[in-house]
Amino acid sequence: MGDAVTLDGLRAWVIEFARLIEEHRSYLTELDSPIGDADHGTNMARGMAAAVPIASGGVPDAPPVGTAKDLLGQVGMKLVSTVGGASGPLYGTFFLRVGAALGDVDTMSPVHFAAGLRAGLAGVVARGKAEPGDKTMVDTLLPALDALDASLAANHSLADALADASKAADAGRDSTTPMLARKGRASYLGERSVGHQDPGSTSSALLIAAAATTLG
Ligand code: ADP
Ligand code: MG
Repeated sequence: MGDAVTLDGLRAWVIEFARLIEEHRSYLTELDSPIGDADHGTNMARGMAAAVPIASGGVPDAPPVGTAKDLLGQVGMKLVSTVGGASGPLYGTFFLRVGAALGDVDTMSPVHFAAGLRAGLAGVVARGKAEPGDKTMVDTLLPALDALDASLAANHSLADALADASKAADAGRDSTTPMLARKGRASYLGERSVGHQDPGSTSSALLIAAAATTLG
């Protein structure tokens, strides 16, 4: 397989995710109104705006970014420290764990990258204890990563595999609408959470879409 994921690719991924979050900021907050506290777009936009200078190398006295672990570790720490609410620690943990799993490398195979994403998801689950069907970002990330692994195992190109992952992520996001929330603020609503698309699963679909356009 000729295609590799590079550090510059990871930088572009973070920057594109930030762009998509900003573009969908009002929409994410709107989704968080009926089943939350109407801050998901604001939360994520604040955190990702703070992460962009790390990814673009624009922080003068920041520690050097030479590896996947440096880059995604710093992005994760930034999200934990700037984003309030559930999503800051969860996305922060995701990026930290992906970076730690990818390690001190600046180029990686698609399979190594996919394994890194899987470690990130494991971190989200360890932290938030959500199971599939609980109406959270896990309902986007799990099917997306399953599709990515299956597509890579079938020897598809990274571009095709990430396109498959993005399609599965969108389907996962849509699957949250009829779900009853069992984690986070939305769970306080019980039956009244049914019929609303989950905001975190929506931002997670943007994360995978950003990977598909920048790494594929
Ligand atoms: P808060 O709920 O604290 O206001 P946000 O509005 O930024 O934080 O994020 C809400 C999103 O976080 C939800 O839509 C859901 O996808 C995700 N979420 C909440 N709790 C959990 C959890 N325990 N595990 C995984 N995801 C969660
Ligand atoms: Mg909220």
